[in-house]
Amino acid sequence: MMFQDKVAVVTGASRGIGRAIALALANQGAKLVLSARSLAALDDTLAAVKAAGAEAVPVAADVSIEADARSLVAAAVENFGRVDILVNNAGITRDTLLLRMSEQDWDTVLDTNLKGAFFCTKAATKFMSKQRFGRVINISSVVGEMGNAGQANYCASKAGLIGLTKSNARELARRNVTVNAITPGFIATDMTEALPEKKREELTQQIPLGRLGSVDDIAESVVFLASDRAAYITGQVLGINGGMYM
Ligand code: NDP
Repeated sequence: MMFQDKVAVVTGASRGIGRAIALALANQGAKLVLSARSLAALDDTLAAVKAAGAEAVPVAADVSIEADARSLVAAAVENFGRVDILVNNAGITRDTLLLRMSEQDWDTVLDTNLKGAFFCTKAATKFMSKQRFGRVINISSVVGEMGNAGQANYCASKAGLIGLTKSNARELARRNVTVNAITPGFIATDMTEALPEKKREELTQQIPLGRLGSVDDIAESVVFLASDRAAYITGQVLGINGGMYM
């Protein structure tokens, strides 16, 4: 039990990677604040986390709204007295070619993926700094490192998350708050399920390990970065991509 007495906030916990992260932290004894845009969407994760024996509170919050981001952190502090781990996982895509990309396509993706992480980090690190302990883990993407046609908005948001990670790591290190990013490659979730079959096959061919990643591949690394074993790691970008980008 690595996280007994630790409190974690996971955004985008209703499905996919966020759900797996929440479960992995619960399995190591963390108390959890689970968030997504609706409470109903969190039912399944909440039941799984509780079945693992963890205490958990679901919160409906849109991370692109600052008051909602604050409410997530407030739920951790009010229910469990502290906040130790923040996983900025909530993310969306609005893929289209540059010339067809609307201002709204751009803003919605940047507001959720990048501004959302800024809001949640700002709210959580206020408490983490006082505690002199914190772990912030940002779920970026391999395409934030290598780019991808048809994803200018998404790639910009994920590259921005890497800059945010490094700046926050420098700013918060003295308070014993570490900030790291994970850049998943293509992981089997609803997000990649939405891709056409042919596109998914093409992508798989670009992966040296010859398969899409699993949500557990990402969750295990979050557990590591949140643990005491990673105490001397900050400002880093951990690529979990089957070798598709080196
Ligand atoms: P899913 O689409 O399966 O899940 C996205 C999650 O984000 C849901 O829980 C959703 O909750 C939540 N979410 C979306 N918008 C908001 C919002 N405005 N406020 C709060 N929560 C929100 O995605 P994945 O599990 O595949 O991806 C998780 C993260 O990993 C994302 O940041 C994604 O960019 C990143 N990633 C994924 C990869 C992949 O191959 N799958 C590869 C690289 C990175 P709800 O809709 O219920 O509100």
